[in-house]
Amino acid sequence: MSGVVGRFAPSPSGPLHFGSVAAAVGSYLQARSRGGRWLLRIDDLDPPREQPGAADSIIKTLEALALEWDGEIVYQSRRGDAYQAALGQLAALDASFPCGCTRAMVGRGPYPGTCRDGLPAGRQARSIRVRAADHVIEFDDLWRGFQRYVMNAHCGDFVIRRADGLIAYHLAVVVDDAHAGVNEIVRGADLLDSTPQQIHLQNLLGLPRPRYAHLPVVLGDNGRKLSKQTFARPVSAREADTVLFHALDFLGLAPPPALAKQAPREQLAWALEHWPPVGGPAESRRYSLPEAPGKPENYPKEPLNKS
Ligand code: GLU
Repeated sequence: MSGVVGRFAPSPSGPLHFGSVAAAVGSYLQARSRGGRWLLRIDDLDPPREQPGAADSIIKTLEALALEWDGEIVYQSRRGDAYQAALGQLAALDASFPCGCTRAMVGRGPYPGTCRDGLPAGRQARSIRVRAADHVIEFDDLWRGFQRYVMNAHCGDFVIRRADGLIAYHLAVVVDDAHAGVNEIVRGADLLDSTPQQIHLQNLLGLPRPRYAHLPVVLGDNGRKLSKQTFARPVSAREADTVLFHALDFLGLAPPPALAKQAPREQLAWALEHWPPVGGPAESRRYSLPEAPGKPENYPKEPLNKS
């Protein structure tokens, strides 16, 4: 054992699509190729965005891909006490404040700081934000190099408990990764911009900072990231060998064509010998997976969430 602890943390808002498989494979290879542990967490923190059966479908697909994880699966829906403790810790440090703004008041830009010195008269508290605006966060991404974020321009003070009472993603992942001893976070580059918020919370909560390594993301025909919200087609356990082969290709490993005929276990054994690709993983780009054999099951009929 090398001491490396990685993880895959899908949200069960739908079955896995090719983009999420590529992220799972990249994070698995990065941990396992160095003898590390690889954990699985289901980020089921947002019931309105979840699809019944999605968590089980994700687990079955990972099994079919022979992506074996260590230990028990962690479910964020069972970790409420740990999140409450972190909220309490931030409040005790005066690092957080209640905010009465609606989404419409804040708009799309960074939070303007309206409630940071107290709720304006007549405003009720809705969410809780953490003070972040006067910070600069710097980190090195293993593949993307040095990153610097001026938080005031990036996001300002950001939400850690939402107006609907749910714990915000940034707080939950930071608490959970630290609790599980995750020390290397390998995930899609779409989450690079979430990293400074997470590092800021680690700093405040006194948690160790993991290494970060952001993988290329798969773009759809519209040039945007494949996602469940844009009808990305789910991959099924039956096509695991084809999907895995294409994920290795997408990540830049240039697998020999004959490998496509091998079972997932053999494909992964080959990939573990060859990871990481020379010069690091490939860039984000369009990539189409061949159509699934047979009748598609579980294709989304309409966007799961319009936001
Ligand atoms: N659950 C998050 C998602 O599916 C990813 C969490 C993470 O990798 O930090 O987008």
